[in-house]
Amino acid sequence: MDALFLIKIGEIRLKDGNRAEFENRLKRDIKRRLSSFHSELTSREGRYYLKVDEENAAQAEFALSRTPGVNGWARAVKTPKTMDRIAGAALDAMAPLAARGISTFKVESRRSDKGFPLDSYGISREVGGAILERFPAMRVDVHNPHATVYVEVREKAYVYTDGTSGVRGLPVGSGGRGLLLLSGGIDSPVAGYMMLGRGLALESLYFHAYPYTSREAWEKVRDLAANLATYSGGMLLHTAHFTEVQLKIKKDALPEKTTLYLRACMMLAADMLAKRRGLNSIVSGESLGQVASQTAENMRFTGAYTDLAILRPLAGTDKEDTIRTARTIGTYDISILPYEDCCVLFSPKHPVLKAKFEEERAAFDALGFRDVVAEAVAGVETVELPFTFTPPRAAEVPR
Ligand code: ATP
Ligand code: MG
Repeated sequence: MDALFLIKIGEIRLKDGNRAEFENRLKRDIKRRLSSFHSELTSREGRYYLKVDEENAAQAEFALSRTPGVNGWARAVKTPKTMDRIAGAALDAMAPLAARGISTFKVESRRSDKGFPLDSYGISREVGGAILERFPAMRVDVHNPHATVYVEVREKAYVYTDGTSGVRGLPVGSGGRGLLLLSGGIDSPVAGYMMLGRGLALESLYFHAYPYTSREAWEKVRDLAANLATYSGGMLLHTAHFTEVQLKIKKDALPEKTTLYLRACMMLAADMLAKRRGLNSIVSGESLGQVASQTAENMRFTGAYTDLAILRPLAGTDKEDTIRTARTIGTYDISILPYEDCCVLFSPKHPVLKAKFEEERAAFDALGFRDVVAEAVAGVETVELPFTFTPPRAAEVPR
C-alpha cells in the first residue's frame, strides 16, 4: 500500500523572481534524503505530493520533519471522486481526533475539477453533515476550530486533517554555504540549526586540544554534528588541532587575555578554512551578555580577524529559549555530557570584558599567531556525516 503526504511549503511561496529555483532545491533535497527507497514527489498548484510505500512512511515523515523549507505536512488519503468515498475518508480521519476529545471542527474544501457536481461549499456541507451525524458531540466552528478537515477535488479527491509542523524557513543551500564554529556546548548546535533554517548550508569546525581535551569530547561534537546532519542532509565536520596554538597563547599572553586571544585565533582559523572551502560566512553560538566575556566589544575584536559575514543567530536569544530549541532538535542531551571544553588550559580569574580595539589588536598582532594558526588549518581533519534516519542520542556516560 502507498502512503501519501501532502506537503506545505512556507516562505518559498513569497519569492517572486527565483521561486522556481527555491522549489527545485527543496524538491531535490527531499528526494535526496529519501534516495534509499522508491518515492514519487509531484507538485501541483503550489502543493507537493509525496508517495512512498507504507513500510517507508515513518522514514519519510522523519525526513520531512527535518527538511528546512517544509512548513508542514499531513498524511493524506486519496479517494475516487464520489461523495460517499470522500465522506468516508473524512470520517476515518476524524475518528482519532474525536477519540482525543476534540470537539469543534470545520471542513475546508477546494475544487479544481469544475466538472465535479458539487461546488466547494456543497462538498464542505455534505462532509460536515456526515461528521456531525457520526460524532454527535462535535460542533462546527468556522472561526476557531480545534481541527480542520481538508478536501481537495482534483484528478482524484484528497482528504486530510491538520498536519505536523516542519522546520519551515528556506531550503538548505539557498543562502550559500557557511562555516559553523561547533563546540560541545548547548549554544552552537542551536545556532547551526537556526542558520540551516535560513537556507545556509553548513560545514562545521571544531577546535580540539588533545590531550587537554579528550577523545570523548570530540565524539560528543561528532554526535552533535551528526544530529545537525539530519537537518542539513549531510555535513562535513572539520577538526583543527589547536594544542600548539593554545600552548603559545599560554606562554605569550597575559592570563586575563588568554580567552580573548583564543577566540581571535579561532576566528583567524575559521577565516582561512572558510576561504579554502569557498564558504561565505562564519556562524557562532555567541549570545550577547550570556557570559561576562561575550560583549559587543569582544565580538568586535574577534570579528576583526575575518572579513566574512559573522552570523550570530543567538545574539538576542534568551538561554531558556535556546535550551528549549536544543531539546526539540535533539542536541540538548548530547551537549550536557560532561566532557571538558577546549579552554581548560586557561581559566583566568579576571578575563578581559571589554577589549580596547586598537590596543588589543596591536598587542595580539605583535605576538604573531598567524603561522601557528595556519599550521593548524593546514592539518585540519575532515569526516563526512551523512544524512541518516537514526540520529545519535546521548550515550551513557562511562563511569
Ligand atoms: P557553546 O554552548 O556553543 O559552547 P558558550 O555559551 O559555551 O557556547 P563559548 O564557549 O564562549 O560560549 O563559545 C562561544 C562560541 O564560540 C561557541 O558558541 C562556538 O560557536 C565557538 N566555540 C567555542 N569553543 C569552540 C570550539 N572548541 N570549537 C569550535 N567552536 C567553538
Ligand atoms: Mg562553550
